[in-house]
Amino acid sequence: MLTIGMLGGMSWESSAEYYRLANVLVRERLGGLHSAKVVLHSVDFAGIERMQVEGRWDDAGKALAQAAAQVRAGGADLLLICTNTMHKVYDQVSAAVDIPVVHLGDTTADAIKAAGLTTVGLLGTGFTMDQPFYRERLESHGLKVLLPSPEDRATVHRIIYDELCVGIIREESRRAYQDVIARFEGAEGVILGCTEIELLISQADVPLPVFPTTRLHVEAAVERAVQTVL
Ligand code: GLU
Repeated sequence: MLTIGMLGGMSWESSAEYYRLANVLVRERLGGLHSAKVVLHSVDFAGIERMQVEGRWDDAGKALAQAAAQVRAGGADLLLICTNTMHKVYDQVSAAVDIPVVHLGDTTADAIKAAGLTTVGLLGTGFTMDQPFYRERLESHGLKVLLPSPEDRATVHRIIYDELCVGIIREESRRAYQDVIARFEGAEGVILGCTEIELLISQADVPLPVFPTTRLHVEAAVERAVQTVL
């Protein structure tokens, strides 16, 4: 089995889910006492968030590239950047290692295409929704991406940083997300494009098909990792 490298801590609330899901999925695939082989590097998110707010993406990219090299040195065969937002520095990270870095935008797009959909609403941090890096990756797969209104984007962003990243799950915020989703016009599905959102809402809360990026990312990694023992 291959060793899955994880660049986590952004936030650790979702990295814990990455780790849990990787193990659950390996057990489902291989049974018995099988568990995932994982090397996790978990950063202090406060420093990364500061760089995001100050627009110091190059510095953030350097920090994550250095962390990625450590994960590689620890024995990882493939790497996951465990946050949608930090895929903004995907190129810097992947240039620092000689192993595949599984792009979260690609794993999400693959699932949407497999479901036969083309037009999807995107929920994520302000960085992910406002900037082109993530949307364009999805569009390169032939998808049409719809964004919430500026006010709704601000709400979605605030709930991520003020609540989900610090472990606060509120019913009121779940309803706020449901309202934002209901306002997408013409969406066939919804991307939960921030790795904490699936801690708040699940398919049962939404009438449209949802695409939970954490689960899809881990599924893709586990699929590759177990190939060598099947
Ligand atoms: N985990 C989040 C994401 O998937 C937000 C935290 C971050 O800015 O990295 O985008």
